[in-house]
Amino acid sequence: MIHFLGAGPGAEDLITVRGQRYLEQADVVIYAGSLVNPGLLKSTKETCEIYNSAKMTLEEVLEVMEQAEREQNMTLEQVIEAIRETEAEGKMTVRLHTGDPCIYGAIREQMDHLDELGIAYDSCPGVSSFCGAAAALNLEYTLPEVSQSVVITRMEGRTPVPAKEKVAAFASHNATMVLFLSTGLLEKLEGQLIEGGYKEDTPAAIVYKATWPEEESYICTVSTLAETAKAHGITKTALIIVGDVVTHHAYERSKLYDPEFTTEFRQGVK
Ligand code: SAH
Repeated sequence: MIHFLGAGPGAEDLITVRGQRYLEQADVVIYAGSLVNPGLLKSTKETCEIYNSAKMTLEEVLEVMEQAEREQNMTLEQVIEAIRETEAEGKMTVRLHTGDPCIYGAIREQMDHLDELGIAYDSCPGVSSFCGAAAALNLEYTLPEVSQSVVITRMEGRTPVPAKEKVAAFASHNATMVLFLSTGLLEKLEGQLIEGGYKEDTPAAIVYKATWPEEESYICTVSTLAETAKAHGITKTALIIVGDVVTHHAYERSKLYDPEFTTEFRQGVK
């Protein structure tokens, strides 16, 4: 069995309880070396084989997964024997992805290959870095009367972005926007944000290595993103947050906690 596992945004204790358990049980761990905190690997068994996927191609990653599965093949008798001894459940592989695997995780191509090979897998969520970045700034992305939507996107890099999803197209909504994988393209980003409809002085933030010990965060505006990153030497492993929620000036209090508002659990008073 292969578990695609979200490692969380960085801090070692921001993995889920289930994820921690999988790491403790794993025989093989393939982790995304550049972004996963290696401290998480401390909880693996001494015999666990650990591979750094930052240095591997998709084919090499799959080869390791396949190998782990092959070695697990047993006859029925052996399986029953193993169960009887309540010993080993066969080799277990963890594919550890930064944040949550569902966001820019390139998991689908791995899963498609595993499907072809008839190898079973499942997914265990993690805390995405866009949540870690909000925590770094104590932000609520969805302030009433300010924005009720979060656009998660990226600038086009070597991976193309569909034409209808260009930053400028989303910018027209003036909603909260979180940009992954775009720290190296901030001048272009500023241009697209403004072209699309954010004012130059719309609040923005740069959060570097959210939840890691070396986390840094800066509040700026849409037109000062590039200069702020440059001033602090930030070129990667950062998220860009755009929108009025960043400075949370004028917002309506939440209906949910309004004394006049009736909910499923509480009768409102007039
Ligand atoms: N699956 C991951 C995202 C992988 S894409 C997740 O859910 O967070 C890699 C990009 O994520 C990086 O280029 C950076 O933009 C962002 N990122 C990942 N971890 C980060 C962190 N701790 N702080 C800020 N940005 C981070």
